[in-house]
Amino acid sequence: MIAENFHKVEEEIEAAKGRRRPGIGDKGVLLVAVTKNHDIEAMRAAIDAGATTVGENRIQEAVSKYEALDRTVSWHLIGHLQTNKAKQAVRYFDLIHSVDSEHLAKALDQAAGKIGKIQDILIQVNLAKEASKSGVYRENLLALLDTIDKKMANLHILGLMCIAPNYEDVNDCRPLFREMYEIFSKVKEISYKTANIKYLSMGMSHDYKIAVEEGANIVRVGTAIFGARQY
Ligand SMILES: *Cc1c(COP(=O)(O)O)cnc(C)c1O
Repeated sequence: MIAENFHKVEEEIEAAKGRRRPGIGDKGVLLVAVTKNHDIEAMRAAIDAGATTVGENRIQEAVSKYEALDRTVSWHLIGHLQTNKAKQAVRYFDLIHSVDSEHLAKALDQAAGKIGKIQDILIQVNLAKEASKSGVYRENLLALLDTIDKKMANLHILGLMCIAPNYEDVNDCRPLFREMYEIFSKVKEISYKTANIKYLSMGMSHDYKIAVEEGANIVRVGTAIFGARQY
């Protein structure tokens, strides 16, 4: 079932790419299989079906799975991160999607420096300014990008991430995704020291097709691949 679902999501992504407006182009989309709250067996099934990347949102859970998983895969941290977990985060994750403050970036920069790693990150943007969600507000985005780029040599910013509000009608996500793509396109034009803005991570199970249509090149999909999570 997991393999079937995974291939179905891949097909939907291809189809959504075909519906993009001219100008966004037809470049590839990375499908992150969000494995939080799913076990090793489910992870294996997704990887064997072709998943190259898994997404986790809790450090503790990710570390225990990392130790247990007998497959090679890229690990992405997609959930909110506390500074006291920075040390573990840099050890296990290839890309951290959820950097949203100078305070957190500093902790990651120091932790990465200590183990001699350049840590790839995305900046999470809270475009809808939802109090319940993390993410830097749009008006503070450029300053954060600039500070990290100038002062934090152990971090490489590779792009932006956002989570859309949970609208009753999923189509209401579209204007927000479109605005994110515009911000992404503008930031891409800025010349940074080390930042290389190329990823736009947006879209989850219920809205990834719209996100891809609007220019996402990373989507984070859990439920549509693995079924509902049991908490
Ligand atoms: C859980 C989670 C997802 C995946 O959600 P689904 O609705 O199960 O696809 C994507 N992004 C983030 C940040 C998440 O926490």
